[in-house]
Amino acid sequence: MSASSVRHYCGLFGIFGHPNAAFLAHLGLYAQQHRGQESAGIVTSDGVRLRRHAEMGLVNDVFKPGVLDKINAPSAIGHVRYSTSGASCAGNAQPLLFEFAGGQVSLGHNGTLTNAAALRAEFEARGHIFQTTSDSEIIIHLLAAPEHVEHERPLASVLERIEGAFSLVMLHNDRLVAVRDPMGFRPLCIGRMDNGAIVVASETCALDQIEAQYMRDVAPGEILTVDAAGMRSERFGPVDPPRGGACIFEHVYFADPSSNIFGENVHTARKAMGKALAREAFVDADLVIPIPNCARCAAIGYAKQSGIPLGRGFTTSHYAGRSFILPDQDQRDLAVRMKLNVIKDAVRGRRLVVVEDSVVRGTTTRGKISALWKAGAKEIHLRVASPPLRHPCYYGIDFPDPRKLVARDRTVEQIREYLGVDSLHYLSAEAMLECVKLPPNTYCTACFTGDYPTEVLVPLEKLALDPEAKED
Ligand code: SF4
Repeated sequence: MSASSVRHYCGLFGIFGHPNAAFLAHLGLYAQQHRGQESAGIVTSDGVRLRRHAEMGLVNDVFKPGVLDKINAPSAIGHVRYSTSGASCAGNAQPLLFEFAGGQVSLGHNGTLTNAAALRAEFEARGHIFQTTSDSEIIIHLLAAPEHVEHERPLASVLERIEGAFSLVMLHNDRLVAVRDPMGFRPLCIGRMDNGAIVVASETCALDQIEAQYMRDVAPGEILTVDAAGMRSERFGPVDPPRGGACIFEHVYFADPSSNIFGENVHTARKAMGKALAREAFVDADLVIPIPNCARCAAIGYAKQSGIPLGRGFTTSHYAGRSFILPDQDQRDLAVRMKLNVIKDAVRGRRLVVVEDSVVRGTTTRGKISALWKAGAKEIHLRVASPPLRHPCYYGIDFPDPRKLVARDRTVEQIREYLGVDSLHYLSAEAMLECVKLPPNTYCTACFTGDYPTEVLVPLEKLALDPEAKED
């Protein structure tokens, strides 16, 4: 992927019933660092009070030695964040922690609420003062509103007022709550530790990190409550929604390949996409190379299906970080340059199939292709293991201004010319959906197809043309 061009969102973790909950939350967040690198936070409960530590920075920088000892308790929630809504600042770091008539409550949110602006305006008109600019705080204000406090199912009634994508972890003094929106946009899974502690996390790689056994996913429209009495579940929202919203981009790019997302392994799905790509667009060549590192699984699939050897065209610095999560475009471009080096001997005089998982702005891909030409490649055929990205996401993935998407107003032939390759093929949407297990209408593919699974009221700022936007 032109990874510097898309921002990510968040990773969630929660645990109830372990004497080292804060330490395990730290490990669970560390395993999900790829989901957000701007801020990290943990809130714990000792059964009476909640304590919080959250700051800007990477998990290991935020939780320096000694910090976890101070907040450790038998239950915890944690969050790594990239701001998809609200400013990138310490005040918006999650989990949020509030106190209201119902007691203390802490919240971690992955996703974007599509009706946040209207709800916030409604509360502000009623005199509410918001402490953050994050859309997630709306949920707390709804919880504290008298009509919900007095409701027989307060949380369900709150969740029925919010729209869009939301996987949530919430901590009260005596319980952990996990929620997935009725469309199931964002993943959230449940595991159990040997001592019986219940764990929830965005990705199963966090369960693996702490040796918890995967039990199942939190179902779309489920509220899972874990307390001293055990685990119980209730439903909210429409009983049988006509379609789902599981984000196909988790499989294409975001999730860790070791994770199981929406019921299947990410590596396996990506490899299948690479194989499908080779079936759709075989080209005779000497070497298949992924543009590292995210396209590696798809490149394995392409090589296997085509019979062309898989090789390395680049080395990657392990110290440069994931560039796409850096908040500033200049920082991201610099990070990409710093972390990739062409292995000249591997590509000189060779006919290359270069496999990408997706192309966003195209600027980074073009730079990598140019580096391969300079290193003496004989032919370059670009194969992209997903369809052209042409539409904005309103569910928590922060693609750039739509004008900056390389495929927005270009044909595939125009993109080929722009990127400077001999041939270019994108995986079809139909083939992409055949590579994942669930029925097609379970997934959201809107950024590729424009087929949004919910009605979206397009926020003005999404349509406003960015005066600083450069034409690629
Ligand atoms: Fe995922 Fe794209 Fe749908 Fe957003 S629009 S939820 S990135 S598939």
